[in-house]
Amino acid sequence: MQTSFSLAQLADADVAESEKILRSCVHCGFCTATCPTYVLLGDELDSPRGRIYLIKNMLESGAAADATTVKHVDRCLSCLSCMTTCPSSVHYMHLVDHARAHIEKTFERPLFDRVVRKLLALILPRPTLFRAALVGGILAKPFAKFLPARLGAMLALAPDSLPTPSPMDRPQIFPAQGQRRMRVALLTGCAQQVLSPGINEATIRLLTRHGCEVAVAAGAGCCGALTHHLGKSDAAHESARKNITAWLGLWDGVGPDAIVINASGCGTTIKDYGFMFRDDPNWAASAARVAERAKDISEIITSLGLAPANVPKKLTVAYHSACSLQHGQKITTLPKSLLMAAGFAVRDVPEGHLCCGSAGTYNLLQPEIAGQLRTRKLANIARVRPDVIAAGNIGCMTQLAGGTQTPVVHTVELLDWATGGPKPEAIA
Ligand code: SF4
Ligand code: SF4
Repeated sequence: MQTSFSLAQLADADVAESEKILRSCVHCGFCTATCPTYVLLGDELDSPRGRIYLIKNMLESGAAADATTVKHVDRCLSCLSCMTTCPSSVHYMHLVDHARAHIEKTFERPLFDRVVRKLLALILPRPTLFRAALVGGILAKPFAKFLPARLGAMLALAPDSLPTPSPMDRPQIFPAQGQRRMRVALLTGCAQQVLSPGINEATIRLLTRHGCEVAVAAGAGCCGALTHHLGKSDAAHESARKNITAWLGLWDGVGPDAIVINASGCGTTIKDYGFMFRDDPNWAASAARVAERAKDISEIITSLGLAPANVPKKLTVAYHSACSLQHGQKITTLPKSLLMAAGFAVRDVPEGHLCCGSAGTYNLLQPEIAGQLRTRKLANIARVRPDVIAAGNIGCMTQLAGGTQTPVVHTVELLDWATGGPKPEAIA
């Protein structure tokens, strides 16, 4: 694709990066076939190619974003299915991240939207605030139908009850069982530890059982993905800096052999820390070290070799492949192989490349499209008649669990169960 940026514009490192990405697109349109919003809406402007044109025009003009561009960029799930499909390796993720940051700086949203986005950026990354907000949401849920549609849709996503916080999410070191094979830091995250503390507990048990000493580092918290995808770059960088400092300071500054992530949306962002800080001389090297050591839990357990497993109950598992895992990190087979090695009967979900509609805060900000995608995903899951649905990302788990009676669990909960841990709570 031809571009026409001025030399002055290209002096900005972010614009220069986006220009490179734009030039790599040959507008073949292959990506449209696998883009969930194009599949649903059939509008070229809701396809990757259409968005790339809108972003190009917005960045070339150097002007404030217009309402049309904002509408179609906002409808993008950042599912990155287009990156898997694109034969020209267009780095759509970095392009849309830049577009969102430009929109955030230059576009004045309606007051309601501004307030909602500010509240989400404030509350979701902070477990104490998020818990308090969910308690309010649970109390208000019965009145959802009397509220404006968007508020009602948000309340519908609140769980019916909240689990008690886990003491395992507090900063501490868990010793390895038997001979120590690795020292790892666990990202305990933000929203996940409030919604489903059993996931981190299962992860810690699984890791220590496989010979890992596991640290929950003081000072680490949200990875920054939630604010990053809202275009709030400063807040995302601040979260990332805290994590980098906390993790690299572990074990007297030696740092962990790996940083283990069990929420794939977070993993995609942490693996991109090196890019996020590429122009910051104070942080670039540390950020790159963290990004190199960041691993999804399925990568770590595969590298260690799954311990002997004995599935207490032969279950058929529908494996839902989170977009951030399959498209963002290109991890497609490892979780399924581990589940099969553990003794579960694993089924692929038809149309597995399409997003379930969760996508960070997307199901809160775009509830109609998110709802359609969930319905489609659950219909596809039902076709494989599972006893249980497994996924590697809390966002997907919450999104799917809200629309089905089939238990939804994290992959690590099944692996932990099969190798000696307790039965996941969601399974009766
Ligand atoms: S598939 Fe790649 S090169 Fe083709 S239009 Fe989409 S982004 Fe551009
Ligand atoms: S990230 Fe997903 S929703 Fe956005 S353009 Fe690409 S395929 Fe479409």
